This record gives sequence, structure tokens and C-alpha cells, in this order.
Amino acid sequence: MSEREAVLRDLAERARFYASLTSIGIAHDRPRPEAEGATTAPAEDLTAIREFIGDCQRCKLAGGRKNIVFGQGNPKAALMFVGEAPGADEDEQGLAFVGRAGQLLTDIIEKGLKMRRSEVWIGNVIKCRPPQNRNPEPDEILSCQPFLERQIRSIRPKVIVGLGKFAGQWLLKTAEPISRIRGRLGQFEGIPVIPTYHPAFLLRNPAAKKEVWEDIKVVRDLLSAG
Ligand code: URA
Repeated sequence: MSEREAVLRDLAERARFYASLTSIGIAHDRPRPEAEGATTAPAEDLTAIREFIGDCQRCKLAGGRKNIVFGQGNPKAALMFVGEAPGADEDEQGLAFVGRAGQLLTDIIEKGLKMRRSEVWIGNVIKCRPPQNRNPEPDEILSCQPFLERQIRSIRPKVIVGLGKFAGQWLLKTAEPISRIRGRLGQFEGIPVIPTYHPAFLLRNPAAKKEVWEDIKVVRDLLSAG
């Protein structure tokens, strides 16, 4: 079996395993890492994760990137957005969602959720820009996976919004298309997850904004529930 086939098989196995877990239900409580024996605060955890990533050379994207885009925002955020991968603007600035799609995400946060962008955490499934903004490949997702897992465990938000296919599938450990999973409440390690359309898709398909608005209303309700 080639290395690529082995990676794909491993991904498929993980997908089946995690898909079986999502049927257990949604945990609305929000244990802080301290409650699970961790001793550091989210901000310190995130600094440690960034240090651990270092000048990452773990996958083939390292050679083409300008900056690692770690993600940014409030380490104690109740709401976390997970996108796909940095684009050209993000690669240039080292910050997530700062281009046109980022402007639309800002509108969703500020106008839709009546929150400030600085209140939430914004990150991506992979932290380096793929060449020509192509889709992330399975080996790249696998290399980056531990970092996002650790970021989520540190921040422990009350709700996670998965933006687009790659984030939605990664969070819910499923291969189902975004058109099927969007708006469907799932969970990542007990944290409620709402997958929705990616802002870049909305720029090309403005009519889909009404579905995102439906999803945002669910996010608002989850955030205001105890
Ligand atoms: N698209 C993404 O998925 N992430 C970004 O950070 C920017 C655009």
C-alpha cells in the first residue's frame, strides 16, 4: 500500500469512528481545561501550541508559505470560527480571514451576531496557504490536525462554527457534502458545532446568505442558552 493510500485509509477509519461518536448527543456544559487537570490558562496554552508549531516543516506546504497563520482572537472566546486554509492576504499578513471573505465574516460577526470580532477566535483547519489556493490535501490536514485539536481544547468555546466543506467535515469527522451537513447541529468533543457555508462561497453565491443567516440564529441561541 502506498503512503497516500495508507493516509486515505486512516482518514476514512477516523471518519467512521468519529461519525459514530456524534450520535451520542450534544453536551451543553462547558468544562474548562482546569476541570480536566490542566493547569495553564487558555492564553498560555495557545502560546505553548504556537511555540510547538515553531517554523513548521511537517508538510509540503512549508516551502511555499510566507507566514504560518495560527489564528487569532480571544483565548477565552465563547465562539470559535474554523475556516479552511489561509489565502494570499492571510499568508501575507499571518492573520486568518483578513481578505474579502474575512470582511464578510466580520459582517456576520458584527451585524449578524452583534459581537465584536475581537471577542471570538478565528482559525483554520490548516495553517499554511496551499499553492494557488487549491484544496488542502489529506496529508496536509493530518499534519496540521493536532494543532487545531489542541487550540480547541485550550479555548474550549461554547460553540464552534465550521466554515465550508473542509472545516465542517473535519469538525464532524464526516465525508458528507457541506450542502448536507450545513445547519445540522453536531459536536466536537462535546462542544456544539454548526457547519455553514464558507464566506468565499457566499461572495460567489449571495443567495446562500439566507441559509447562513438561519445557521447564525442557531449559533445566537446556543450562545445565549445557559
Ligand atoms: N479562507 C479561509 O478558509 N481561511 C482564511 O483564513 C481566509 C480565507
